Order: sequence, then C-alpha cells, then structure tokens
Amino acid sequence: MSVIAHLINGERVLGERTAEVFDPSRGLAIRRVSLADHATVQQAVAAAAAAFPVWRNTPPARRAQVLFRFKQLLDEHRDEIARLISEEHGKTLEDAAGEVQRGIENVEYACGAPELLKGEYSRNVGPNIDAWSDFQPLGIVAGITPFNFPAMVPLWMYPLAIACGNCFILKPSERDPSSAMYVAELMLQAGLPKGVLNVVHGDRAAVDALIEAPEIKALSFVGSTPVAEHIYTEGTRRGKRVQALGGAKNHAVLMPDADLDNAVSALMGAAYGSCGERCMAISVVVCVGDQVADALVAKLVPQIQALKVGAGTECGMDMGPLVTAAQREKVLSYIEDGVAAGAELVLDGRNVSVVGHEQGFFLGGCLFDRVMPDMRIYREEIFGPVLCIVRVGSLEQAIQLINAHEYGNGTCIFTRDGEAARLFCEEVEVGMVGVNVPLPVPVAYHSFGGWKRSLFGDLHAYGPDGVRFYTRRKAITQKWPQRASHEAAQFAFPSNR
Ligand code: NAD
Repeated sequence: MSVIAHLINGERVLGERTAEVFDPSRGLAIRRVSLADHATVQQAVAAAAAAFPVWRNTPPARRAQVLFRFKQLLDEHRDEIARLISEEHGKTLEDAAGEVQRGIENVEYACGAPELLKGEYSRNVGPNIDAWSDFQPLGIVAGITPFNFPAMVPLWMYPLAIACGNCFILKPSERDPSSAMYVAELMLQAGLPKGVLNVVHGDRAAVDALIEAPEIKALSFVGSTPVAEHIYTEGTRRGKRVQALGGAKNHAVLMPDADLDNAVSALMGAAYGSCGERCMAISVVVCVGDQVADALVAKLVPQIQALKVGAGTECGMDMGPLVTAAQREKVLSYIEDGVAAGAELVLDGRNVSVVGHEQGFFLGGCLFDRVMPDMRIYREEIFGPVLCIVRVGSLEQAIQLINAHEYGNGTCIFTRDGEAARLFCEEVEVGMVGVNVPLPVPVAYHSFGGWKRSLFGDLHAYGPDGVRFYTRRKAITQKWPQRASHEAAQFAFPSNR
C-alpha cells in the first residue's frame, strides 16, 4: 500500500508513524498517510524560516505570477483533483468539481496581491508630514483543515497567505489527504520557491507541535468546534494570531408564502448534498405554521426516497457515503437518539444498501418531523444526511429559536415577502445569511465566517478579512522639512491645532 509523504522544502519526506486512508464507497483502506511528530514539524518550520526573508522581499507582482501559473495548472488538473476528493471523501464527482471551482476562485482573488497590498496613504497629515499604512507579512503561518472540503479549505488559506508574503505550513485532514497534497505539488510546479509552502500530515501530535512552535505567528483552523476552541485558546495564549472556524447547525426558515417547489429543490441539495457533511448544510427547517410544514413533508418524502445513493466516483449519483465507518456510527447514534426522544422519524435511511458496495459507509436520507429544541438531534451538529423539521407559529419565534442556538454559521429564509426577509437579515444572529439562497457561502472576494461558537477570532476567512489576517499593519509617519529650520521642543501632545 502506498504511503503519502509530507512535503517539506520541496521534498517528499516519509514519516515513521502512519494511518490508513479509506475509500468510503468500498469501506476499504486504499493507502496510508504519514503522521508527523514534533521533529517533522520542526523540519517544516526550519524550511519555512529559511525561505521567508527572500519571499517577504519578493515584489507582490512577482508573487502573483506564481499564483497565475498555479491557477492555470489547477484548471488543467480539475478532473484529477475532483477524482481524488471523491475517492477519499466519498462526495460525488460533480460536487467535488464544484469544490475545486470554489477553491480556484480563491486563487484568482490572491492573484490581485499587488492591489490587495497597496496600503493606505495620506499626504500632509501635518506640515510637511505624510503618513501611510503598510501591510506586511507575519512570517510563518500554519493552516489546519477538515476532511469535508479537503481541497477547497486549504485554498481558502495558503494562496492568500503566500500572496501576502508569508511562508505556510499546511496540515490537511488525515482522513482524505491526497487532493490537498496533489494541489500543493501543483503550487510548487508553478514555480513557488522551496520552503514557502510545506505540508505536514498528521493528527493531534502534529497540531500540538504547530501550536507550540514559537516561530509560527498565526494559525488558521477549520474543523469542529471543540478543536477550534482548543486551538484558539492554546494559540492565543502563546501570543499567536488565531482564526478558528468551527461547527454549525444551519436553519432554513420556510414562510407560508414561499415558492414551495423551489424551496424543496433548494433544501434537498442543501440538506443531502455531500451526504450532509458540509458546514453550511441545512440541517433544520423551521416551518412557520403547520400548514406549510405538512405541505413540505408531503413534497420532500418522494424526493428523499428517490435520492440516488452510490459510489461518489460513479456518474449520476446524488449522494455518496459518509467519510468513515466511525462517522456513520456517530450519525446512526443520533438517529436512535432522536427516535428515543420522541421526534417523528418520517423517513429512515438506515437500511440503504448499495449493490456491489456492501461494505461502503452508506446511509440513506433521513427526515425527522416535530423536533423539539431540547432534543440532542436539534442541539448538536450531526454532519450526516439527517434533516430536522421544527414547527413554530411566527417569524419572530423562528428568529428567537435561531438566535438561542449556540452555533451561528449560516441560515436562510424562503419567502416572497421583502419585509419579512429584511427583518430576518436584520435580526438573525448568524454570520452568513441567504434569502431564497440555501447555501450562502460568500464568493472569494467577500469573506467567510460564522458567529457565536462557529468562529473563534475576530476576522473571517479569505477575501478582504483574509488579507488583514495574514498581514500586520505598520503605520508610518514621515516628515521632510522643505528647508532646514530649527524647531523648538514641543511638550504638548502633537496635533494639528
Ligand atoms: P475535526 O475537528 O475533527 O478535524 C479538523 C482538523 O483538526 C483535522 O486536520 C484534524 O486532524 C485536526 N484535529 C482533529 N482532532 C484534533 C484534536 N483533538 N487536536 C488537534 N487537532 C485535531 O473536523 P472534521 O471532522 O475534519 O471536519 C468536520 C467539522 O468541521 C464539522 O464540525 C464542520 O462543521 C466543520 N467545518 C467548519 C467549517 C467552517 O467554515 N466553519 C468548514 C468546514 C468544516
């Protein structure tokens, strides 16, 4: 079985410790991945530290040239990347292709480095005094990424960090590391100097070594909330800048006046696409009134029953398997919990079987109705193909319910009423809001982030906030008197008055 190596200083480095990587459609280990220890992380840190002085001083326009070539290589290799994602994650090829496209858009944004780093300039802030703000790189920064977008989330991070003049250490998910590795190698092929981007694979030991390394000035994390909170606490305690994006429980509000057929189509994709393993997946529909809830159930049931469940790498599937056997077990335990708590399991996907893939980690679409806010299936992130319906009496109650939840990643409202939509956008305490848009993932030139326990840190990921996260502002005030003249000492605080 082949072993995936680390990528340090442009070289492949094998680890002593390894873990299995599965094809979830077949339920089989297909390769192994090296797991970094403290010494391996130190090797990556040393490579990044050696590369930084030259990269920091490389003109942004030259750094952008590497990114333009990288973008071209990504375009040329879209299909291979999508296949690797699908093989190890299980998502369908079409879904994986969408992930690759959204990742490429982050590279396109980073290609604007000269514009993004232009700084701010003010002439004559005082007599013969000019002032400007410069945005300088931090040094070595690291990114730790989740299994569910194995190619896209790394692309949220390192193209922009590197465009800003930093050196980067990526620690992809050990569950599906191949696509991230393939993409990182394309970045080197694009002409990136050795050591500017390094990849270390691994588990908690590697992450702890990244948190502890004093040379690493910032950490970007995307994953579950407990780990996000741990990394934020431990990283900031050591003086690092940390941006840690966590889990979610995304609600869609269905108003009685909504275009129901279109809302149902949107909900099918948002709840069951990628087998529910998206941080922006809709996992709760809040129906305003029993009538709309009954109508929704009647329309959803036949569509969920018709979902084509199978190997993600086979064409024409709607839903692949869950990523691992453990993830499947976790989702199953939530379904049992929901039944025991008294929610109505309208559709039970537990008995789905895929011919020829009997060992795969498959689960059919599940639908719970009459879910109550105190149930675990409502409170916690399930991260599987399980949609919960909660019934409320008014839009105000729907907003109160969402605002009371610990997570605040994404939400949306389906309505034809502009007044209701505007009230919802104003009042809802969630970072990303859609109006008749079920997955309001911001485009690359905006920034991505949730509120409450869906994000620890001050700035959102990628886009304009990403530029601020990966740079430090330096404010420079400079005076060049026009002719030599003597100035008396001033003891009052300098001002223009
Ligand atoms: P995870 O938290 O298990 O793993 C994420 C990363 O952290 C991986 O690289 C993993 O190796 C590492 N890790 C895992 N346990 C660790 C520990 N105890 N200490 C240190 N590092 C550890 O998350 P996952 O299962 O890979 O991804 C799914 C989760 O990510 C979901 O909760 C999902 O909502 C969330 N997610 C959030 C966003 C967002 O933008 N908010 C995006 C994608 C995924």
